[in-house]
Amino acid sequence: MRRAELPSRLRELEQAGLMRRRRRVEGPQSPHLRVDGATVLAFCSNDYLGLAGHPELAAAARRALDDFGVGAGASAHISGHTSLHEELERRLARAVRLPRALHFSTGYMANLGVLPALAGPGDVIFSDRLNHASLIDAARLSRSEVVVYPHRDVEAVDRQMAQQLNRSKLIVTDAVFSMDGDLAPLPQLLELCERHDAWLIVDDAHGFGVLGENGAGSLSHWGLSSERIVYIGTLGKAAGVFGAFVAGDDDAIEWLVQRARTYMFTTATPPVLAAALLAALQLIETEPWRRQRLTALVERVRAGLSGLRWQLAPSDTAIQPLIIGDNSEAMSLMDSLRQDGILVPAIRPPTVPPGTARLRISLSAAHRDQDVDRLLDWLRSAAQSGRMPKPSA
Ligand code: PMP
Repeated sequence: MRRAELPSRLRELEQAGLMRRRRRVEGPQSPHLRVDGATVLAFCSNDYLGLAGHPELAAAARRALDDFGVGAGASAHISGHTSLHEELERRLARAVRLPRALHFSTGYMANLGVLPALAGPGDVIFSDRLNHASLIDAARLSRSEVVVYPHRDVEAVDRQMAQQLNRSKLIVTDAVFSMDGDLAPLPQLLELCERHDAWLIVDDAHGFGVLGENGAGSLSHWGLSSERIVYIGTLGKAAGVFGAFVAGDDDAIEWLVQRARTYMFTTATPPVLAAALLAALQLIETEPWRRQRLTALVERVRAGLSGLRWQLAPSDTAIQPLIIGDNSEAMSLMDSLRQDGILVPAIRPPTVPPGTARLRISLSAAHRDQDVDRLLDWLRSAAQSGRMPKPSA
């Protein structure tokens, strides 16, 4: 694109209704958010356990600020890897019951680091059609051949893998799909990896902290362990802070220390974040009521929205998409909810397949029953009347 084309390209986005506008949030994360000067009831964050604004995380960060200052100063290989980062990696490995973990700046960067480190030209990556954008970009960056398989279709992957004898192979998948909330069939995918001698790369951004024993994540949920698995967890969602990690056996992680470019060529994260994360890991492990609360809220939403003319997607996780279908109906529902002080994002194609525009309801252990009931009442009334409820004064 030439510089001169930019204004017309921006106008095209505007005219197609595709301009994204950021909301301005004041204060800490909470289901009751100060947004653009008003308080709204929010069902849009990934703060599944209600830890992002937790005072113990803030206190841990404050203490580390005195001891470590703000910046890490350099990349991990130079002088940015502090004792706090090291302790964090040890605790993360323990949390997911894998031999070793490596801390990355973000989930996006972890994915961009892992795939090109493990796969290259001549190799084949099998990727679920609904994988997160960062996995799609990571597969492209690796310059491997990418075979996209239909969502959760194990038989299709099996057939496609059988055609690729004598090539190094990887299956890559979200463990919990971010726009649908459903789970990848990890046991069956691992069985394929054993049979076809392949890696299984699992992005558990939405499972770590929430699923499995003590929040150990999707591998624990399914009872899986294998040296073929490379596990990616993110730390800005259930853990309430920022960052990500990759976990696996010693050799796999050592290889990433040596070869993952997004680990090597970037400044290490501020040590205060590691301190806050250590406090978060403690709460994830010792406060199972947060996960129980989330499960109860998921059940409340599913019971409360059954039998409407809009269907909830089949999901047992904190991500509860209400499929509206039509793009403009989804957008006007979002706008009317917003006028009534409730923030639920509408997700349209191309982020989701055509005809499946949806309200992506995400729940947090910090929501109260009456918060959820307010949303359910609103949606039931909108579904029955066939039009939007009048915004209240
Ligand atoms: N993977 C998945 C499945 C995600 O949903 C996200 C974040 N939306 C990421 C990776 C990226 O993680 P981060 O926000 O830490 O970059």
